[in-house]
Amino acid sequence: MSLFYCIRFDYYVTVLTNQTSKRVNTILKLHEINGYIQSIYVAEYKDKLLLLDGACRADVDTICEFISGQLKRPLTDLKLIVCTHMHPDHAGAAEKLKQIIGCDIAMTKTNKHWYRGLDGFLMFLTDMALAKWVAKRKKKASKWLWYNRHLQPDLELEDGQMLPGFEDWQALYTQGHTDRCLSLYHADSSQVYVADLIVIVKKRFIPPFPVFHPNRYKQSIKRIKELSAQTVILAHGGKIPYVDIDFEYIENKAPHKPTTHMRSAFKKLQTAWGRS
Ligand SMILES: [Zn+2]
Repeated sequence: MSLFYCIRFDYYVTVLTNQTSKRVNTILKLHEINGYIQSIYVAEYKDKLLLLDGACRADVDTICEFISGQLKRPLTDLKLIVCTHMHPDHAGAAEKLKQIIGCDIAMTKTNKHWYRGLDGFLMFLTDMALAKWVAKRKKKASKWLWYNRHLQPDLELEDGQMLPGFEDWQALYTQGHTDRCLSLYHADSSQVYVADLIVIVKKRFIPPFPVFHPNRYKQSIKRIKELSAQTVILAHGGKIPYVDIDFEYIENKAPHKPTTHMRSAFKKLQTAWGRS
């Protein structure tokens, strides 16, 4: 074979390989399921499934039933769960699903547990109580929400890293709500899942509670604003067209000081004592 044909053959193999891997990595559908207190998003591919967030402990059965019942696929097709942060509605189901299915869990690269120490344990209890309160407001039956607050990831994600096995999704650090919040960007379909970065209250998009790192929060909002993906996907609010979000309003509403459980408790005590 002449050198020309060798090069041509090589070229066609490369093109074919690229097309095949692109086809395998083509998302069929991004499903939205009603979770216990938040939306659950499952990205469906021909040969695999990706769970965009770790959901509530109470969502384990819902997720399994959705995969085997509605999608009619084996549970083992779920290959990866990304936990965007450690709150009960974003990390609660991950470990149990891993035990049942054997999938991997991915989280932000960090060397400290979010709920560490006595403070962390108290914050964990408060967050569990908050999740229960939200469930009650949504008129959901009381369910078991307890999960391992010291979750160990199989994969630690760097800022900007493509998800292993799902290279069409990119992890973006969008911290502020907590110190490890992630967004997941899918450039091919121009959509970004931002978890709790933005919430809806009284039909307006506002910052969430708590915001532990106000400066990082503002940078994260700016990052998503400048990304200008056509669809912004919220954990509490569904899929929203980018043009419908008033980013300026959120920026103006973003706190200058941390808004955390301890600070609000202290403020309430001050008010009760007539010091505010
Ligand atoms: Zn949260």
